[in-house]
Amino acid sequence: MVSRIIPVDPFDLVVFGGTGDLAQRKILPALFRRFCTGHIPDSARIIGAARSDMTLDAYRAFCAKAIKTYGGTRSCEDGTVQEFLSRLDYVPLDAMGETGWPELVHKLEGCAAGRVTVFYFSVGPRLFGPLAERLRHHGMAGPDTRIVVEKPFGHDLESAQALNATLARHFAEGQIYRIDHYLGKETVQNLMAVRFGNMLFEPLWNSQYVDHIQITVAETVGVDGREEYYDRAGAMRDMIQNHLMQLLCLIAMEPPAKFDPDAVRDEKLKVIRALDAVLPHHIVRGQFEACLDPDHPHPSYRGSVGEPRSTTESYIALRTHLSNWRWAGTPFYLRTGKRLKARSSVINVMFKDAPHSIFGEEAGRHANLLSIRLQPNEGITLKVTIKEPGPGGMRLVDVPLDMTFAEALGPDGGDPPDAYERLITDVIRGNQTLFMRGDEVEAAWAWTDPIIAGWEARGDAPKPYPSGSAGPTDADLLMRRDGREWRGINP
Ligand code: NAP
Repeated sequence: MVSRIIPVDPFDLVVFGGTGDLAQRKILPALFRRFCTGHIPDSARIIGAARSDMTLDAYRAFCAKAIKTYGGTRSCEDGTVQEFLSRLDYVPLDAMGETGWPELVHKLEGCAAGRVTVFYFSVGPRLFGPLAERLRHHGMAGPDTRIVVEKPFGHDLESAQALNATLARHFAEGQIYRIDHYLGKETVQNLMAVRFGNMLFEPLWNSQYVDHIQITVAETVGVDGREEYYDRAGAMRDMIQNHLMQLLCLIAMEPPAKFDPDAVRDEKLKVIRALDAVLPHHIVRGQFEACLDPDHPHPSYRGSVGEPRSTTESYIALRTHLSNWRWAGTPFYLRTGKRLKARSSVINVMFKDAPHSIFGEEAGRHANLLSIRLQPNEGITLKVTIKEPGPGGMRLVDVPLDMTFAEALGPDGGDPPDAYERLITDVIRGNQTLFMRGDEVEAAWAWTDPIIAGWEARGDAPKPYPSGSAGPTDADLLMRRDGREWRGINP
């Protein structure tokens, strides 16, 4: 399957935090891959900006290493790497002081008016406000400017509101691109294609036919390298408030009138605002235990973050509801955790049993399941019931109708673009559909804050769970009390 290459308009992209982990692992390799595919025009410039006092040659060498290590498997000739590197520039700059700003202004002065200028804030959140202020102060916050703001966007509603207010003093909402990289994943966008591009599912997509929905984002990794941040955030702030919330929105929202940024985001906002408060007995928090396996030893959560009394959760499972016509009575179960048995992000839409079985009790209960795998092995499985082959009466069996995108779409489907590739080109094209609007982020915090305040007030401690497991046993009880079960966490 061949996709059409439409290069983006000429642009200047300044990556604040251009020497950091995210720039190295995601942003620079994503730009390079888009360069290889012909999406990036010859006159584009990419300017790294960070505190490190590096020469341009040293920065290009840093980027070459990043591309080599994280550039992916798509082939690209050596000459192309050099060509890409020749578009890079570097400015040592302090976001909190005056160093480097005149140099940056000078570098950007050479651009023609009307050229797209993007400032990517790939720095710690405490620098988001100061960067916006300095861009305005140095005359770089013009109407053709866009800023990209990384997560976390706030720590709670109050801090998110304050950050939105700071950014709004310098930039219009249409210039602000709040990244949730989950929205850039091909399969997450496929959620919308599956729902709104097919007649098959939408008529059944409501509480009359859907028993419940499970959203699981399981990780095998711990908190390495992010200990300080993670111990202040926990799974609720780090994953549920943003990534799982976004998945829930795409699954639950009404069809927007068109695939247009505000139409889509208006519908997502309505979902978040319709979410019920979560009852204390509908939440399970956990912390992983140490792994003593000599081949893969690692400390417990508390050992990892160096806080023997930490009560931050590395796992959370919860049940929530939407108070609206479509979903009244259908529970949504969300769970995410670290050091689980497999890396797997999957949405399971569990349909109700047929209202009456003409095959009698002995045929058992069979319900359809639509499983949307976001990673790994992206694809969709629809579980349907058929007759078990052979003699001996009418016995029913469930079989999967399985579509793995890599197989269905050929080589391009097997190597889908990284989320950052899609998102960065969307910023340059000025398309905000896959970025969170300020009111969306605030609504998500408004739902999250009371949940966190509730367990803090009760002094609930997270339940320990073995590393490599599916999480605390209480999470299974959360389901069993409702007569349901989690689907397995499979790689
Ligand atoms: P990082 O590795 O700590 O890098 C921070 C970057 O900020 C470095 O380039 C650093 O430059 C620069 N910096 C720090 N203070 C500065 C200052 N006063 N002026 C100018 N530059 C300054 O952080 P990261 O992991 O790349 O994360 C960057 C942002 O992305 C954070 O908001 C993070 O939450 C978010 N994020 C990261 C990931 C990830 O996988 N890493 C994933 C999702 C979101 P020097 O090193 O030269 O001082």
